[in-house]
Amino acid sequence: MNLFTALREAFPADLDGCAIEPVDGPDTTHVYTWRDLDRASARIANLLESLALPPASRVAVQVEKSVEALLLYLGVLRAGHVFLPLNTAYQAAEIEYFIDNAQPAVFVCAGKHFTWISRLAFKAGTTHVFTLNDDRSGTLLERATFHPDSHTPATKSADDLAAILYTSGTTGRSKGAMLTHGNLLSNAQVLQRYWGWQPGDVLIHALPIFHVHGLFVASHGALLNGSKMLWLGKFDPKEVLARLPEATVFMGVPTLYVRLLGEAGLTRAACKNMRLFISGSAPLLIETFNDWRERTGHTILERYGMSETVMLTSNPYRPEDGERRGGTVGFPLPGVGLRVRDDQGRALPPGEVGGIEVKGPNVFAGYWRMPEKTKEEFTADGWFKTGDVGKVDPDGYVTIVGRSKDLIITGGYNVYPAEVEGFLNELPGVAESAVIGAPHPDFGEGVLAVVVARAGAQVQGAELIAALKGRIAGFKVPKQVFVVNELPRNTMGKVQKNLLREQHKGHFNA
Ligand code: AMP
Repeated sequence: MNLFTALREAFPADLDGCAIEPVDGPDTTHVYTWRDLDRASARIANLLESLALPPASRVAVQVEKSVEALLLYLGVLRAGHVFLPLNTAYQAAEIEYFIDNAQPAVFVCAGKHFTWISRLAFKAGTTHVFTLNDDRSGTLLERATFHPDSHTPATKSADDLAAILYTSGTTGRSKGAMLTHGNLLSNAQVLQRYWGWQPGDVLIHALPIFHVHGLFVASHGALLNGSKMLWLGKFDPKEVLARLPEATVFMGVPTLYVRLLGEAGLTRAACKNMRLFISGSAPLLIETFNDWRERTGHTILERYGMSETVMLTSNPYRPEDGERRGGTVGFPLPGVGLRVRDDQGRALPPGEVGGIEVKGPNVFAGYWRMPEKTKEEFTADGWFKTGDVGKVDPDGYVTIVGRSKDLIITGGYNVYPAEVEGFLNELPGVAESAVIGAPHPDFGEGVLAVVVARAGAQVQGAELIAALKGRIAGFKVPKQVFVVNELPRNTMGKVQKNLLREQHKGHFNA
């Protein structure tokens, strides 16, 4: 089934009810009804159809977040083409790569970027470039207005492509993960049940929509439940707090939780209507998990997923399924197979750390035009190697220890950065840390740590090193600790260890 059709069927019977209420941006007086969503996505789908594009054309989109950008996504699904969202941070060199690699038939960009993006796109064979700004202006909507506001969704099967998400590509070139209508719909349906979406739910949508978290997990969650969204173009902790009393569900990356904790207005009273706080995309510090519970009375539900697989695991929603355990990402979702294996492909017993492999209806169809790369990332028996390192406890909870490429091998010993970071973060005065390996003449790699001090605290690298000695094996103790003001993070809150590795690569003069 076309994913759009499933979402459309979930719209409430009263199409004049509010579907999306913008909280910020140029126009907060205009709310979008379910009928608006239906009609506007139909106009966009009709516009796309009028272009007579080849079937399953890629529609690349690099625009600021807006409700219209979401409508464009729905219009692309509806017309049966393939949505290709691009991070708004990408610059010319990156955009050129994506255009050459994905060969989109259509590119939709912000008006201010039209000149250079259209030049690149036309050169690579893209036939149509439209503009869409976050104030509802631009040629896309101007053109769409001339098209009818009803449209029969294109027939799609579960295996047909719905979207391509380029991975953040911290090593090598970014790869386009091909997600099918079946991948996205099955995952959205599982999450709807697992997280207990219910009538009357209201989601605060404060995440970007070029990424799996905001585009799929958050938007599909609300749409498939016919639930209203309070829509923030940009995350602002004060705006979120002001609207919390009207909401029941919030999804955020860990940084958003940390920023909300910095607000005095975050109280139990402010959260009393809330049903569920969900975190993911990067590890949630145990301290944030604990502080949140203390301040709000709510236990954050942490889940784990990735562009290639949508959601894989989740802490339980219902108490009868178990507690929400901080530091873990919960259990594999219904229908998801998850196993941990060592480098030789041997299955590891509970509690032992190894590579996480997964299987299920949510696992992507492969990397766009990279059959070799795709083959490498799947085992002979069809499991996808996530590239994450972790373990499964005897009672089934999954813990992520880090990305396999972040694993440090020093003097032949494996060091899992997350383990060392956990010990560092417990030391007085330490707010957070990132542990990396840098080339070392004797050990291959030497362990280094970059640490952020708590507000007002004075921390010395040498003291932290001394404090770690005796607590953990000597080979795991960082040989050097740098104290910095903040860790480099991408928009999804992930620490960019590749940047840190680059910065410190000459430290040991290997
Ligand atoms: P992306 O494809 O950008 O969504 O990145 C996916 C990666 O983010 C995963 O492979 C994990 O390394 C990481 N990730 C996502 N959720 C979590 C989580 N809850 N805890 C730790 N790492 C996570």
